[in-house]
Amino acid sequence: MKKFLRNPLTVVGCVLFGGIVLLALLAPILPLADPNETNLRDRLLAPGSDGFLLGTDTLGRDILSRLVWGTRVSLAVAAAATLIAAFVGSLIGLCAGFFRGWVDTVLMRGIDMVLAFPYLILALAIVAVLGPGLLNALIAIAVVNIPFFARSVRGTALTVSAMPFVEAARIGGQPRLRTLFAGVFPNVLPVIVIAMSTTLGWMILETAGLSFLGLGAQPPQADLGSMLADGRKVMLVHPHVGLLPGVCILILVIGINLIGDGLRDWLDPRLEGGAHSAPGAATSATRAADIEPDETTGDALVRVRDLEIVFGEGEASEPAVHDVSFSLKAGECLGIVGESGSGKSVTAMALARLVASPPGRITAGSIHIDGIDVLSASEETLRGLRGARVGYVFQNPFDSLHPVIPVGKQLAEAVRAHGGADRKAAEVRKRVTGLLDQVGIPDPEKACRAYPHQFSGGQCQRIAIAMALANEPKVLVADEPTTALDVTVQKRVLELLARIRREHGLAMVFISHDLGVVREVADKVIVMRRGKVVESGNVVEVLRNPQHEYTRRLIASIPRLGAGPEQSLGLDDSGKTEGGT
Ligand code: ADP
Ligand code: MG
Repeated sequence: MKKFLRNPLTVVGCVLFGGIVLLALLAPILPLADPNETNLRDRLLAPGSDGFLLGTDTLGRDILSRLVWGTRVSLAVAAAATLIAAFVGSLIGLCAGFFRGWVDTVLMRGIDMVLAFPYLILALAIVAVLGPGLLNALIAIAVVNIPFFARSVRGTALTVSAMPFVEAARIGGQPRLRTLFAGVFPNVLPVIVIAMSTTLGWMILETAGLSFLGLGAQPPQADLGSMLADGRKVMLVHPHVGLLPGVCILILVIGINLIGDGLRDWLDPRLEGGAHSAPGAATSATRAADIEPDETTGDALVRVRDLEIVFGEGEASEPAVHDVSFSLKAGECLGIVGESGSGKSVTAMALARLVASPPGRITAGSIHIDGIDVLSASEETLRGLRGARVGYVFQNPFDSLHPVIPVGKQLAEAVRAHGGADRKAAEVRKRVTGLLDQVGIPDPEKACRAYPHQFSGGQCQRIAIAMALANEPKVLVADEPTTALDVTVQKRVLELLARIRREHGLAMVFISHDLGVVREVADKVIVMRRGKVVESGNVVEVLRNPQHEYTRRLIASIPRLGAGPEQSLGLDDSGKTEGGT
């Protein structure tokens, strides 16, 4: 409840809508005049007249009373129509999305037929056939809103039905209907609730619209639309008669929409906490005091000092990374090890200010790469840095590659991004095949035309490495590049990285949760735990003489052939089994 009401606009919506609903519900016990009692002596009195708080209409009826009773009617019709449309539409959408095949075809073609008619004209046609009246207006607006629910629910149901847990239920022989209502339905419910909250507002407008045209509420019954129509006749001389129901409709619809927005934020946690604004192009960096890089690291390519990164707003948020310092010369390889969640990836992303912001912020420290002060660099400087001077290789190669663009094209794009868009096609192609050849992809010409799914995981990782190398970066950041691969492929990718480092004289930041892997590629290592560097130094020395308890456990967890399970499983399982992400 607190979360729901945190947004002030939601509170405003609740107050507006809740107040009107309360009035409408209390209509029978409020001391109101009879809404239909005409009194021709007191026609068109202004608001505030004796005994008539909001004045009277063309037949001398009390506007306040009619407004309250009319709102009651409008709300009841709109709510009933919403419920009917939501029920029928969601059922159609659920069945179409879940059963697919011919059920989907038949149901959705039916929906398409309804959709083929303009919305209001269809409602008018339905009322014309059924005859004017509130009940018929209700049926009409319910029917025309069914497709809206059916379509949005079907989309979500399709996605949910393809999820592994639904397939597991199917294979496991769970009755289909049970899977539908116990498995799929709860996941679709938020979509239905959000759709209902927006539809209710439309429904009020549509009911009012039909009544305004004389097709909904029939005299003498009041509803907001028919009151509006009455007021229109005397709009110029007695504007209050039409304005009051108009304002009432406005407040109702605004209230409902604000509540709908609040509901959406509440039901979809991804929209929370600054997600209203998309992350910026660079991590926001606020430096309390200008920290100059360490003098002793003057000639290093990468210099990071006292880096601190915080997620979320507020003083209470713990930094995800703090006091991280390291430096790296050309040709050197720094290994960063630590269990998953220890801040390795966040540190690596921060090097090119790639941590999403919001929620991430660099709150202290300094980063210098190849002479560029990264934390105070402009967006343009950063663009020149990313890809051109700092290349990234990530854990899952499939995430780095576009699924429906041939590999050659993607590599060409990477080559062109920094090498000037006007490079000749043949020249670019030569470079692309050269890159693929360099990372050991057989038959590069043919590989260029293939799509990522036609390669194995290891090959995709090679292509991702080729892409990172496209602009001959000086620094290569590899974030668990082999974690998603099996051990033999891992070995070959590691060899590839080592060879590339030798040939290009690259500085490399190699991240892994596995000290055994880091031992093979890195010269220096920092061990991270809970966002802090707990140990750093030369790999051989750290391995030979670990100072920190956590490093000792990491070393003990490197499996050795011939060692019994007691020796090789020395770590509390968090780091090894999850395979850091
Ligand atoms: P790893 O060492 O496994 O790569 P990460 O660097 O990805 O770990 O994450 C370090 C910590 O940063 C996590 O424990 C998490 O608390 C925090 N973190 C990472 N991304 C976010 C995010 N988008 N929002 C909030 N916290 C995050
Ligand atoms: Mg990670």
